[in-house]
Amino acid sequence: MNEADFAALVAATKETLQRVADQFAPAVFASSLAAEDMVLTDMILRDKLPISIFTLETGRLHAETLSVLDRIKETYDYEVELYRPQPEAVEAYVQQNGLNAFYESVDMRKECCRIRKVEPLNRALAGKHAWVTGQRRAQSTTRAALDVQEQDDAHAMTKFNPLADWSEEDVWHYIRSNHVPYNSLHDKGYPSIGCEPCTRAIQPGEDVRAGRWWWENPESKECGLHVVDGKLIRIKPVATNA
Ligand code: SF4
Repeated sequence: MNEADFAALVAATKETLQRVADQFAPAVFASSLAAEDMVLTDMILRDKLPISIFTLETGRLHAETLSVLDRIKETYDYEVELYRPQPEAVEAYVQQNGLNAFYESVDMRKECCRIRKVEPLNRALAGKHAWVTGQRRAQSTTRAALDVQEQDDAHAMTKFNPLADWSEEDVWHYIRSNHVPYNSLHDKGYPSIGCEPCTRAIQPGEDVRAGRWWWENPESKECGLHVVDGKLIRIKPVATNA
């Protein structure tokens, strides 16, 4: 992509975020603190958009991921809000199944994700009109139909994926050109980062999501934030010029 096309892509993405702020307040951005999310964090905080940023602190994140919270505070003077799982739900799961039972079956894994991610997400989204994610279409087979603006029936609100059209190269071009802080695991072979026990580094040429839940089939590799009952949430694309 040449610089003019890239500038147009950035402008369109900022327009989308501005529209979210203007027309969908209160809106929130669910950040995983990965590279894509840092692009959106930079755009939101530099333009002082009234979109609050939160992350799901599952209790199983890498130290490197948690340190991104400090980098955001240093760079933008902003504290990302943390949503944690209900302690009693975590305790019951661990007592009944063991700390790392998610390796045993897709159901066990989805139950862990439900407790540590989906329930806290639902709390974070309560009362909001829209939420923003850093998902990109090219990230995985489960995201191939992603649109910039969608109707999220499961949460009864509008969902925005402003980076749906972005490539991985676009993400890194933005980060490097704008000196955006990022998770140091990206420099160690982790293009996609989730919880520590469920993420591993990948080899050159492997799919970018190959390091997430690597023991499962590609079709099941979502944490439940964008799926319901094991199926992709029925999302209705909404016409947009972004
Ligand atoms: S990614 Fe792994 S550790 Fe994190 S919530 Fe899901 S199953 Fe649990």
